Amino acid sequence: MRTAISFIFYALALMGISSIGQAQDYDLVITGGRVMDPETMYDSVANVGIKNGRIAVITKEAIAGKDEIDANGLVVAPGFIDTHVHGVDPFLIKLRLRDGITTAMDLEAGAIRVGEWYEQKAETGWQVNYGTNASHPIARLLVHDPEVEVVGPVDFSTAPKYLNSAAADGVAGWSTTRDTVETMNAVSRLVDEDLRQGALGVSAMPAYMARGLTTYALFEAQRVGARYGRHTAVHTRFHLSSATPTEAAIGFDEVFANAAVLGAPLLVLHDNGYGWWEIEEKLQLARARGMNMWSEYFPWASGSTIISADFLRPEIWADTYGNKYEETIYDPQLDKFYTREEFVETSKAEPARNIVIIMKWREPWLPLWLSVPHMTVASDSISGHRPDGSLLPWGADYSEYAGHPRAAGNHARTLRLARENNVPLMFSISQLSYWAAKHLGDTGLQAMKDRGRLQVGKVADITIFDPETVTDNATYKAGEHGLPSTGIPYVIVNGTVVVRDSEVLEDVKPGQPIRFPVETEGRFEPVDVNRWINNNTISRRALPTVDDMGATKALEQEDPQKTDPQKEGAIRPKIQRDDLQRRTLIEYARAQSNPPGNAHTGLFFSEGPPMPHSLFCPIHRMLEPAITVRAEMAQK
Ligand SMILES: [Zn+2]
Ligand SMILES: [Zn+2]
Repeated sequence: MRTAISFIFYALALMGISSIGQAQDYDLVITGGRVMDPETMYDSVANVGIKNGRIAVITKEAIAGKDEIDANGLVVAPGFIDTHVHGVDPFLIKLRLRDGITTAMDLEAGAIRVGEWYEQKAETGWQVNYGTNASHPIARLLVHDPEVEVVGPVDFSTAPKYLNSAAADGVAGWSTTRDTVETMNAVSRLVDEDLRQGALGVSAMPAYMARGLTTYALFEAQRVGARYGRHTAVHTRFHLSSATPTEAAIGFDEVFANAAVLGAPLLVLHDNGYGWWEIEEKLQLARARGMNMWSEYFPWASGSTIISADFLRPEIWADTYGNKYEETIYDPQLDKFYTREEFVETSKAEPARNIVIIMKWREPWLPLWLSVPHMTVASDSISGHRPDGSLLPWGADYSEYAGHPRAAGNHARTLRLARENNVPLMFSISQLSYWAAKHLGDTGLQAMKDRGRLQVGKVADITIFDPETVTDNATYKAGEHGLPSTGIPYVIVNGTVVVRDSEVLEDVKPGQPIRFPVETEGRFEPVDVNRWINNNTISRRALPTVDDMGATKALEQEDPQKTDPQKEGAIRPKIQRDDLQRRTLIEYARAQSNPPGNAHTGLFFSEGPPMPHSLFCPIHRMLEPAITVRAEMAQK
């Protein structure tokens, strides 16, 4: 009955009938504010009525409700959506709320055991909407660091202890181990299971495993997500590099090409490093071709990550990229810059320690990011820890936060900079709310189709701010890292007021899961070498079985240093390699009479063993023994 009544009410509201606005008709009314919706471009002073967690009416007429917010002089905007919140802990969420966030998701690191992850959040309750990706890096930790005992679901608020113990044996397997077919399938199976459980997409962090992650394993990770039509969010392999041939945009190109051929959505994380202009241009061209691809930035000339990040080690950060530790690597807890020696020492002793990377060269780029279409604002904020390593509790003082100031001031800072740089307010609201919802909604995610818009029928996630005064207050100075933003007096999540008069209300937890429905069956398909051959070479009938041993032997025998081809008994294939270089394999096969065959059948090579497939098989690396960086390092 109740449902029927609210349905009728909802239908009336959809029809724009506002005269039903009698006293107490709404749970909450917001009166006299400048209501702005980036999708319809509605921009007018109006009253908003909220009922059962949704926007029931937007009207110029007087309305009343059980609760009222006077929004005179304030902007009433769709709640800010932050797709890059590593700090999935109550204190960090409190900070994000002061910055206007109504949905906080970690699409970069993601989580494992996603079903349990969502259950735990529902049990404890959450102040903002929550969601996560399937974590490819943590799935790799499960497979490549089997000595680490992992309990329950893991996200970035709990990952640091596991990262530390994974590195305790001297080798961070998740980062440095190259996959075999077997381990790659094991990782993909885990990622697939988390997608089945409703994860929003796949988290990929090739920069943190630049030496360990093969291009094919990354392609495969994206394909696991593509089977569900979901996005992959990527911290690209050479992010921050301006050093040819490891320019940042090359790391983008690999995931971009994968997404394009897979027809899969793509989110480029923090596209505020070198080469961002090339990446943004390509993303705009891709969108013009109907591809669902977008990016994020945080409006600072600095970043933050774990000290053991692969790209920060001296051979890369200093010797290749040309940076000085004394000018770029800042420890917010110690309030000092590191020397190269201190850096190396600390990254060994405490691999998961947080540092801030100061990158002054970004300063001239910053005003431009404010005005790039479909570039969304995301904080990349990291949990706050006490000096003993424990997480800050909800009630901790804001001055206790030691970390990058973006955790506190990111979104308000965007609004302040936009104001100072004459960026139209509606455009900024698109960057803060709408485009993240639009692109995620376009992957089929209903919870995001219903958010990021200020329209009748949509979920009442609403941020109310003063456009003239809204500002960040957090700085790099110790004690000021977590100073909350001001000028955002009200934040409403699913129709419930969580921030009132600039105070976060304790124990008010209206957050809802942002999640795909759980599916009964996964979509995992293991990579199989023989199937690859069947699918990608002309042989269709007599499917050959690759003989690894034969191939390896033949390779050895082919080595001119090991075998003199003129010697009696030497293996002399009928077809020499030169011929293969002149003619493509397909031309070659077509030229053959029956029966059909391909290079792998040995048909072309009637004398001796088959031509080693690894000479032309694009997945030959999978067939090699697992020679990995991990093994090389272990030998040292
Ligand atoms: Zn990142
Ligand atoms: Zn991040």
